[in-house]
Amino acid sequence: MSQKRFTSDVVIGLEIHIQLATASKLFSSAPTSGNEEPNSRCALVDVGMPGSKPVVNKQAVSYALKLCLAMQCTVAPALIFSRKSYFYPDMGKNFQITQYEEPLGKDGKMVLVSGNEIGITRIHLEEDPASLVHPSGMQTSSHVLVDYNRSGNPLCELVTEPELSSPEEARDFMKQLITVLHYLKIYDKGIIKADANVSLKKNEYTRVEIKNITGFKEIERALTYEVERQKNETVTQETRSWDPDAGVTHLLRSKETEEEYGYILEPDLPAVTITNVEEVKKSLPELPLAKAQRFAKKLKIKEEDARIIAQDYLLAEMFEEAVETVEPKVAVTWIRHELNRVLNYQKKTLEEVDLDKKQFLVLLDLVGKKAVTENAAKKILNNLVEKSFDVKEYVKKEGLETVSDASSLEKMCKEAISANKEAVEDYKAGNEKSLNFLVGQVMRKTKGAASPDVVLQQMKKLL
Ligand code: ADP
Ligand code: MG
Repeated sequence: MSQKRFTSDVVIGLEIHIQLATASKLFSSAPTSGNEEPNSRCALVDVGMPGSKPVVNKQAVSYALKLCLAMQCTVAPALIFSRKSYFYPDMGKNFQITQYEEPLGKDGKMVLVSGNEIGITRIHLEEDPASLVHPSGMQTSSHVLVDYNRSGNPLCELVTEPELSSPEEARDFMKQLITVLHYLKIYDKGIIKADANVSLKKNEYTRVEIKNITGFKEIERALTYEVERQKNETVTQETRSWDPDAGVTHLLRSKETEEEYGYILEPDLPAVTITNVEEVKKSLPELPLAKAQRFAKKLKIKEEDARIIAQDYLLAEMFEEAVETVEPKVAVTWIRHELNRVLNYQKKTLEEVDLDKKQFLVLLDLVGKKAVTENAAKKILNNLVEKSFDVKEYVKKEGLETVSDASSLEKMCKEAISANKEAVEDYKAGNEKSLNFLVGQVMRKTKGAASPDVVLQQMKKLL
C-alpha cells in the first residue's frame, strides 16, 4: 500500500490475536483449559515431538469463519496452512503453523459506532506458542522455564488497514470487536493481544510497531504514550515493547520483515475446500449496530440508549429479556442507568460482579408493575449486585410492597392530619412546606413504600 494516501496526523493499524473459545487445541485434542499444572495439557504435536501429526480442529475453523463473515471478508476457497520458521524455545517444532499465502478471510471491514469504516486486511488461523516463565522476573532470572499448556491454543489473527486515526479510535475498534466476538459466541474470557503500528504525518509516516500489548485498555494507553513520544523524538522504523507498569515503550529491535521467516506450505495438512460459507452466513446472529437500530426503531427508545445497550452483549441480552415483560423505557432506565450507577459506585464492571440476571429481571418486573417504589428497588439492586437472593420473598419479608390501596392511604393521611394540627394550620395559612411535612409523616409510616405523588394528591384532597 502506498503511504501517499495517508492524510490524518496520526495513522494506526492493529494486528490482533484473539483466542477462540474451543474446548480443544487447534491441531490436537488436548484441552485448552482445566488443569493449570505446567505442561499438563499437551499432546505430542503441542510440544513438537518428531513424527507427531497435526489434525485441524473443525470447531476452530467454523469459529474463525464466523468472524471472517461478520467482518464482511471474502473467504478463501480453501483452508491452507504454512510453516513460519523460527528458532525459539516457545515453539518446540521450530516453526509455527499459521496461514500466510491465503488467509481464511481478506478485504473485510468493520463499521464503528461513529460511522467510520475500518478496513480489515486479513483474518487467519494460527497456533499459540508456549509461554516462557522467568521465575524471578525478566531481568534477574538465571534460567527460563517453558510451559507448553498454551502451546497449540487456537488463535485468530486479525490485521486492520492503517485506517485508525487516534488512540481513542483504536480503543473504539477494540471495544466493538470484542462485542462482536461475544455476540458470535466464539470468545469468552480469553486473552486479546495486539501489536499496534503507529506513525505520524510529521515523520512522513515512519512506522513503529509496538509488540504484544495485552488488553484493550492497554492498547489505548500504549498508543497515547507512543504518539506523544513520536511528536517529540526522531523516529526510525523499529519494533518496541510496552511496559504497562512504567507506562512507557522500549526499543526491542529494528524491524524484521515477514519474508525473513521463510514460510513454506505445511505438508502435513492438505488443503481443505471450504464449502459451508452460505450455511455459516445464515447462522450469524444479529450484530451490534443492527441490534441498536432495531431497538431504537421498534422499541422507540433513544438512539443513544439503544447504542450503548447493544454495545455490551450482557446488557443487550438482559434488555431483550426484560422488554418481554416491562416497558422498554423502564428497561432502559434500569439496565442502562441504575445498574451503571451501582457498578460505578462499586468500581466494577458487569462481568466482574455476579449479578443474578433472573432476579434482576424479577425486580424490573416489580418496578414496571409499580409493585415496589423506585427507592426500594434501588436499595434492592445495591444488594443484588453483591449477592443473589429471592427478590419477591425479600420484598414481602421487608414489607416493601407499594402501598397503593387507596383506603389505607386515606386512613394514614387522616391520622397525620389529626396528629399535626399545627402543620395543618400553617398550610392553610399559605405555607406549602407544611404540606411536605405532612406527606413526610405518611411516607415514614409506610417506610417509603408509597408513591409520594399519590400521598400528595390524597393529602391535598383531604385538606
Ligand atoms: P508487516 O507485515 O511488516 O507487519 P504490514 O504491511 O502487514 O506489515 O502491516 C502490518 C500492520 O501495520 C497493519 O495493521 C497495517 O495497517 C499497519 N501499518 C502499515 N503501515 C503503517 C503506517 N505507516 N502507520 C501505521 N500503521 C501502519
Ligand atoms: Mg507484523
